Order: sequence, then C-alpha cells, then structure tokens
Amino acid sequence: MNPNELADQLQFFRDIGVDSLSLWKEQTANPLSPQIAISNEPTPASNDMLTLDSIRAEIGDCQRCKLAPKRTNIVFGSGNPSAELVFVGEAPGFDEDQQGLPFVGRAGQLLTKIIESINLKREDVYICNVLKCRPPENRNPEPDEVAACNPFMKKQLAAIRPKIVCCLGAFAAQTVLQTAAPISKLRGKFYDMDGIRVIATFHPAYLLRSPDKKREVWEDMKQIRAELFRLKF
Ligand code: URA
Repeated sequence: MNPNELADQLQFFRDIGVDSLSLWKEQTANPLSPQIAISNEPTPASNDMLTLDSIRAEIGDCQRCKLAPKRTNIVFGSGNPSAELVFVGEAPGFDEDQQGLPFVGRAGQLLTKIIESINLKREDVYICNVLKCRPPENRNPEPDEVAACNPFMKKQLAAIRPKIVCCLGAFAAQTVLQTAAPISKLRGKFYDMDGIRVIATFHPAYLLRSPDKKREVWEDMKQIRAELFRLKF
C-alpha cells in the first residue's frame, strides 16, 4: 500500500468513525490476513460440474430479457473463483456497463475501501450482481428481469461455494434472502442459506449519499471478519 492509499484508508476509517486501530506484525497469526482468510484449497465441484466459465458460456450473448438490446456489456462478475467471501450487488451502472466489470464506478471505489478495511483485497473476494445487464437510467430491476437473471447468480454461488455472501443493499438482500423486509431490518445479522452464511449491509451507493451509515457498515464488516476467522476452526 503506498502512502496515498494508506491516507485514503485512514480517511475511510475516520469517515466511518473508527477511532483506534490495532497493528499486526506480518509474521504473527493475523486473523485478517488473506492467507488465513482465503483458502487455497480447490473449489469442490458440485454434482453437475458447475464452473464460472460454464455459467458464463451458458449466458452467452443473452437475449432472455428486455435489458439486452440496450446494454453495452454483460457484467458477469469478477474476482477469486474460490473466494470465501462473495459480494452481491443489484445491477451494473453506467461505468460497469461500459467496462463489463462489476463495481468499478464511485460506489465500486468505496466498496474496494470497505473490502480493504478488513484486510482483504478485491482479488481475494468475488463480486457480482443479481442482474448482469444495466437497467436504463439505473432504474430498479423489474420482476421479469430478476426471474431471467437470478438463476445465474445462484449458479455462481453454487460454483464458488463461498463461506459468506454479503448482499449490498435492499434489492440484493431481498432477492437472495427471498423476503420483502427492509434493509434496515435485514442488515447486521447472519442467515443460513444452504450452508452458506448470508449477511446484508447498506449499498455503497447509498453510503455515498448517507455517509453517516458507514458506521453500521463497519459493524457489519467486523462481523464478516470475525465469522471468516471463526469458520477456519
Ligand atoms: N451498483 C451495483 O449494485 N452494482 C454494480 O456493479 C455497480 C453499482
């Protein structure tokens, strides 16, 4: 991390109201380090040999819903195919549609800081969205679009088999957890979904508009960090 990145990271901690940090020595068992948080074991293949490549191939040049004609790129997802932690967002925005990658705009930059706040890197985790194509003018996803696309997100989770899924925002949380409860009620606790621990937190785009909510996101991230550590043993 260079001095500018460090200053940014410290600013994030200040923004979210963290007033003390503990320092870890490299050689001690740091429960937050990627080496410990991320396993190098190969992902066990599920019965039907789902892989991210096979799921991407199945999506193909998707025309399954009305978002297809307006998209620039399908935003499949990116990151570690064996990640223990997966972030699921809502749908690509303008920058993501242009680049074909999830969370690369302003909200994405904040997500990167959030990930780094628990000593992980973007490359350690996997990031995807419920919808793979951008809704026009970033409007809310519609039920037919979710019905067409959600099976692929579920297959991505089945292929990766992460220990924890963190849903970003109300839409992702409600879709993954199959509930209409508001994000303020859903966030901050773990749910079990087929052996995967699921937690929800506020969407980074919401944090850009309501920075006072960063404190709660930090609480949620600490829970994720502790759970990843606990699941090692
Ligand atoms: N918001 C999302 O939900 N996903 C992205 O990829 C970008 C912004």
